[in-house]
Amino acid sequence: DVPDYILAIAPYQAGKPIDELAREFGLEPAGIVKLASNENPLGMPESARQAMAAAAASLGRYPDPNGFELKSALAARYGVPASWITLGNGSNDLLEIASLALLAPGRASVYSQYAFAVYRLATQARGARHIVVPARDHGHDLEAMFQAIDDDTRLVFIANPNNPTGTFLPAGEIADFLARVRDRHGDRVTVLLDEAYNEYLDPELRFDSARWVEQYSNLIVSRTFSKAYGLAGLRVGFAIAQPRLTDLMNRVRQPFNVNSLAQAAAIAALGDTAFLQRSYEINKAGKAALVEAFTRLGLRFVPSYGNFVLVHVGDAARINLELLKRGVIVRPVAGDGLPEWLRVSIGLPEENQRFVQALTDILSP
Ligand code: PMP
Repeated sequence: DVPDYILAIAPYQAGKPIDELAREFGLEPAGIVKLASNENPLGMPESARQAMAAAAASLGRYPDPNGFELKSALAARYGVPASWITLGNGSNDLLEIASLALLAPGRASVYSQYAFAVYRLATQARGARHIVVPARDHGHDLEAMFQAIDDDTRLVFIANPNNPTGTFLPAGEIADFLARVRDRHGDRVTVLLDEAYNEYLDPELRFDSARWVEQYSNLIVSRTFSKAYGLAGLRVGFAIAQPRLTDLMNRVRQPFNVNSLAQAAAIAALGDTAFLQRSYEINKAGKAALVEAFTRLGLRFVPSYGNFVLVHVGDAARINLELLKRGVIVRPVAGDGLPEWLRVSIGLPEENQRFVQALTDILSP
């Protein structure tokens, strides 16, 4: 008697691991380029590696259950009290923690078509209803999302920038949405602003969403160390919210949800502004190179504010297979309702070049 809502879940489709492709196609792992999971092509920062080595001495003990040092460092960086921060095993964990705290059968979440796949999964796992709002230009239609909020709605997910489409909502539009939701629904409806790709935004587009939490008691801002900070394998993210929401999330999270190595590495990475800047710059240059290649090949793409680009290739299943044969792993997004598109993460210059060359060969034999 497994609940129907659990049976209805389609598992998350992650990018194909390099070793799996190597086995399937008889390729050398070293020759494979993986541009499928929006990982940082620079790998992890050396500063984090050293911090982990030091922390490894204490692995016989449980991690700090409250992440005191990491929260203190985050509080100093973002200008919010440490008590407003919740740590997560990746920011996916925070999406689930928020869903666990706020959703239940009979309740609903609102999110956009083509928004991050985990919003659906986290909602379904709670037996809650999901209200999927049609996208506008592949991005969030905030007006339609506002209108879609019904009496059962308790949580609204917004990804900014969004994955897999790379679209972005400017500060003014989000602030306006937050104010309208609060004025209409008070604290009954929580908005979770998922900013996993925030650090890739050009400086003039960044805004201080962490400080908005002071103004909006119904706001949770989530960020991650998986992308620009280069720590995807360690699984660490954080959320900022006022004490009412932070307390609710703290009730349902696992007691030791962020391990000791991850806490130590995240503190180091947070202080490594040189690494962050390099990540931003290599991404910006790589994005320009991909956009230039797509334009040359006559392919449509969605202008991206993240570390990946969504490109229209038509027969995406075939193109994806041809790319795999050539040792290039990208991300098919048919499961997200985009069967004619592929999502390509931005890699090192030579990785981007390998992808562009393979795609050019496939499209113009
Ligand atoms: N939000 C968005 C929009 C994402 O694209 C991702 C990563 N795919 C996440 C959250 C979760 O990342 P992580 O759990 O590694 O922090």
